[in-house]
Amino acid sequence: MTPDPTPVPIAVTGATGRMGQTVIETASERQDCTVALAVSHSADDVDEVAGVPVRDAADLPSLLTVYDPAVLVDFTVPDATTTYVEACVESDVAAVIGTTGFDHGGTECLRTASESVGLLKAANFARGVAALRRAVREAVGTLPGYDVEVTETHHNGKRDAPSGTAKTIVSDIEAVRSGDDSDAGDSRTEGNSDERVHGREGIQPRDPGEIGIHARRAGDVTGEHEVLMADNHELVAVTHRAESRGVFAAGALDAAVWLADRPAGWYTFTDVIEDER
Ligand code: NAD
Repeated sequence: MTPDPTPVPIAVTGATGRMGQTVIETASERQDCTVALAVSHSADDVDEVAGVPVRDAADLPSLLTVYDPAVLVDFTVPDATTTYVEACVESDVAAVIGTTGFDHGGTECLRTASESVGLLKAANFARGVAALRRAVREAVGTLPGYDVEVTETHHNGKRDAPSGTAKTIVSDIEAVRSGDDSDAGDSRTEGNSDERVHGREGIQPRDPGEIGIHARRAGDVTGEHEVLMADNHELVAVTHRAESRGVFAAGALDAAVWLADRPAGWYTFTDVIEDER
């Protein structure tokens, strides 16, 4: 019998956040990875998550040297992520980034880091969202001229709006409309075309080609995205609903195991999925 491969040691930042906790809990149920290090920033006051000690993120550079993880998994806030990624570069640790809401400077910082270490960024680690994006690209190509509206709903604690996933979907739609139906992963999310209309108020008739984008914040909704495409005779709606944060954690850990030992470079969750097909 072939022995199981050695579990990939990972570090988890934002260990006390919604996603950080879920990543640690999900990893504890898997054989292919193990949480070697969990950190959270000093404002938090939690000692352990799922039996894993939570250390001070301010000490991350030295902790990476001591615990020697292969991959860091990050779901925090953009300013923290860029600092953590700099520590990864110093210690030659790859990084899986689930954090959303980066501005141009933050994205450039991650791009620069990816010249030194493997860096995999995705606004959404749910496999269902990967399927939704493929379906939307296909539908938009089949339905030229149809009105498109993208609506996302998240819990009332979400900071950035619209969601990184909604921006990725809109970028996909714009790419198909401009004749490019390839999957660019998250690489185009920071663009902002004239066609994007965020919410509507007052007298605002719809222009042809407009892409409406709507962000709703309520309760503890894990994450929903709907893409509506319609002309005057028919309507197509494609919806994804995350039923639990475990789906994002599972995808991020799949990505971490895939990324370990890969060369420096910029990767997306699509690369992981395509590699499996
Ligand atoms: P959360 O608010 O529950 O957790 C945020 C974490 O970041 C906490 O641990 C908090 O202590 C830490 N943090 C906050 N401010 C900090 C600072 N200044 N310095 C260092 N750490 C800081 O949020 P969440 O729901 O876990 O989401 C975190 C991020 O992950 C968000 O950007 C969210 O959009 C994104 N997210 C991505 C996916 C995906 O699949 N890619 C899925 C869910 C959430």
